[in-house]
Amino acid sequence: MLKLAQRNSTAAILTQTKQLVSIVFRTITSGNFEVETPLNFINGRRKNCLQTTTQSFTVEEPATGKTLCRMHESGIEDVNKAVNAAQQAQHDWGEMSGFERSKVLQKCAHLLKEKQEDVARLEVFDTGKPIWEARGDVQTAVDALEYFSGIASTLCGQHFTLPGGSFGYTRREPLGVVAAIGAWNFPIQMAGWKSAPALACGNAVVFKPSEFTPLTAVMLGEIYKEAGLPDGLYNVVQGGGQTGNLLSSHPDIAKVTFTGSVTTGSKVMKTCAGGIKAVTLELGGKSPLILFDDCDITNAVNGALLANYLTQGQVCSNGTRVFIQENIFSDVISRLVNRVKAIKYGDPHCEKTLMGAMINKKHAEKVLGFISRAKQQGAEVLCGGKQIVPDNPILHGGSYISPCIIKPSDDMEISLEEVFGPVMNVYSFRSEEEVLKRANDSQFGLASGIFTKDLNRAHRVAAKIQAGSCYINNYNIYPIEMPFGGYKKSGIGRENGMITLEYFTQLKTVYVEGGNVDCPY
Ligand code: NDP
Repeated sequence: MLKLAQRNSTAAILTQTKQLVSIVFRTITSGNFEVETPLNFINGRRKNCLQTTTQSFTVEEPATGKTLCRMHESGIEDVNKAVNAAQQAQHDWGEMSGFERSKVLQKCAHLLKEKQEDVARLEVFDTGKPIWEARGDVQTAVDALEYFSGIASTLCGQHFTLPGGSFGYTRREPLGVVAAIGAWNFPIQMAGWKSAPALACGNAVVFKPSEFTPLTAVMLGEIYKEAGLPDGLYNVVQGGGQTGNLLSSHPDIAKVTFTGSVTTGSKVMKTCAGGIKAVTLELGGKSPLILFDDCDITNAVNGALLANYLTQGQVCSNGTRVFIQENIFSDVISRLVNRVKAIKYGDPHCEKTLMGAMINKKHAEKVLGFISRAKQQGAEVLCGGKQIVPDNPILHGGSYISPCIIKPSDDMEISLEEVFGPVMNVYSFRSEEEVLKRANDSQFGLASGIFTKDLNRAHRVAAKIQAGSCYINNYNIYPIEMPFGGYKKSGIGRENGMITLEYFTQLKTVYVEGGNVDCPY
């Protein structure tokens, strides 16, 4: 387990045993820990960075602003070590049958489920999101392991009967070592969603979490090891953009699976182009959610809330542009405003908290900047959108923003750019044709949603929306069986579902001659 230095000395003694770590987690609130254990995880062991000449950085706990850990950015020596370990381990793993790999991954899933509460607690320290959400995020990683372990044994090729007794077949083979680079909003989910299919397909993984959220990816490595995953198959290197770049440009990396912003995604794609590497990009969004006047308004309001305030609004697929048909506009707005004003914010470890802290001060300022510029441009703030200070003094170093509803015009910056905070834009519309045009007028195309009781309209609009996902009468649901990914600048490739196997394997075609070689020379 990770070693935690307690600011409180009695509790420090308790952290010495694995069993008690979880008890400590359950009895603390934020602001109590500094993690002292090395946070790179290479060849089955936690390691400090080999290079201490690289930039050092301090990770803050979002809820309190207190130091959570201090690290050096992993340099080329660390990345080389991790990639070499992965390469060596991948050799035998890739030669195992899918069924054999499946058995190991099932154990990983069971152990992660057993430790769900501890991992969720750590995720709260890392991200500032409320504990009820963190538990759900761990479950999505368990789901990925269960799902991909289940289909590992179904990996197969095709058989072709050819003339004269010849035949052919295809083999689905692993790619080799996959680099996985994650964003800070769903660290454990990303570690699970990326590593589970990669491992199921016979690859090894080197994961780089965001420098803001280094903890749970390492804990996942320890769980994998304890469950029997051979050393070297899952490694973690900590660091920022430089480490990410070293990883994606490494000649022995076969593929990069990346989640993050459009700007960084484009850089990663350029780097991968240099090495002709496969790349999956899960990028940002500015997704539309359309509420037609025949919808069930209670469900639609619930859907709009789910579409905007999970993880303090720092969710790529959020339906941040909520279009409401004009004759239900005022009713929906008054219900939304009442519900949003009642959202409880504060200590993310507290069971009653619905919204926690923004990832850091800089990001909170960025979100507040969007709101302030929108106001200057004439947008009406219907509620929230202010920096707030929770009552508990321990939380005063964290950054909290009251959930906001704002009424901008379509051409304002806040309608065009991803804000990545608890800000719901609302717009009124008249007709289906008009709203479709406005909904599709975006550089992004990650997700979308429709609330209506008219089934014909629901499917007609779903077909015309330019987005990788469309929710009908719900929002922000991610069943592991269903592919997830973006249109336009929201990304390339898909995560989850059977299709993911194609992104983590390569296809070999084998021709077998049944007769003599017919040669004209
Ligand atoms: P960033 O693009 O800033 O960072 C993503 C990751 O890339 C981080 O680990 C980052 O390291 C790393 N990185 C930075 N520079 C490079 C580089 N040159 N080469 C390789 N890696 C690099 O995104 P954020 O972490 O700020 O996450 C927010 C963004 O992620 C939002 O746009 C959001 O929409 C998107 N996102 C998309 C999702 C999807 O599935 N479509 C899901 C979740 C988020 P470091 O952070 O340490 O600098």
